[in-house]
Amino acid sequence: MSLIIDCHGHYTVLPKGHDVWREEQKAAFSAGVSALPYPLISDDEIRDTIESNQLRLIKERGADLTIFSPRASAMAPHVGDAAVAKEWALRCNDLIARVVELFPDRFVGVCMLPQSPQADMANSIAELERCVDMGFVGCNLNPDPGGGHFRHPPLTDRYWYPFYEKMVELDVPAMIHVSGSCNPAMHATGGYYIAADTIAFMQLLEGDLFADFPSLRFIIPHGGGAVPYHWGRYRGLADMLKKPGLDTHLMNNIFFDTCVYHQPGIDLLADVIDNKNILFGSEMVGAVRGIDPTTGHYFDDTKRYVDALDISEAERHAIFEGNARRVFPRLDAQLRARGL
Ligand SMILES: [Zn+2]
Repeated sequence: MSLIIDCHGHYTVLPKGHDVWREEQKAAFSAGVSALPYPLISDDEIRDTIESNQLRLIKERGADLTIFSPRASAMAPHVGDAAVAKEWALRCNDLIARVVELFPDRFVGVCMLPQSPQADMANSIAELERCVDMGFVGCNLNPDPGGGHFRHPPLTDRYWYPFYEKMVELDVPAMIHVSGSCNPAMHATGGYYIAADTIAFMQLLEGDLFADFPSLRFIIPHGGGAVPYHWGRYRGLADMLKKPGLDTHLMNNIFFDTCVYHQPGIDLLADVIDNKNILFGSEMVGAVRGIDPTTGHYFDDTKRYVDALDISEAERHAIFEGNARRVFPRLDAQLRARGL
């Protein structure tokens, strides 16, 4: 029996006070005054939001454990300044820590980072350390803190290196994950997310980042964006750019999740991409919430697509459990400590 580990879940339905405070924080920044104190949020409020959303769906769909991070669309590092981003990340990550404390068998934390368009990665390094101290096992790294304009240096630039050094030191992976789009030409979850996944992969292909950081690990979510579908293009570009083959150039360090919301897409992913590079994920509750009229099942009920793959049980075990334990060694250690 595999442990079903969902590597991609966000805390999307939150205690009201948290969201209200965020609006106050933004208003205070605009008015040039200090934000009001963060409200008291009870354990019962957190319990209610989790039990009626994430936990209910996890139980219905048969996942065991969710790698859980703050709501991605609301990370919004382009809002306010570095101080606003720092406090917002801290509040969001503290809520995740409380969820994990209340439901330790069901959730493990991944943190958002206090990135900000004009800032270096110093605050992000400090927040990553703080969160790993609290038991978090990874982070979400935003390649475009400006929110839909791609003005940041590519992920291979030395701008990011101090952060990567900390990731390697702490042995935690990052999911490459953008936030809300402030570019009206780019729909957040339909245009921006999938474009950013694809752009991130190409940035990494063009550079030699993993020669400098051989143990650095990235998860590119949403099935790797357009990459698996265009795998021949990327293999061809690697050849044109005089890079090694993708298997050694990138695929010891890059992993894709299964947040692809139909069976033919998952079939293609598993066919094209080596199964050692695929982690089960659903990204619920969030991006697409409806029911697929052609199947009668929720689009984001991704476990049933993986269950239906024509692969060996050993490969399915790798996608559901083994790969996640390899990519998130701190999770593996926590599970082993529990006898799992
Ligand atoms: Zn996500």
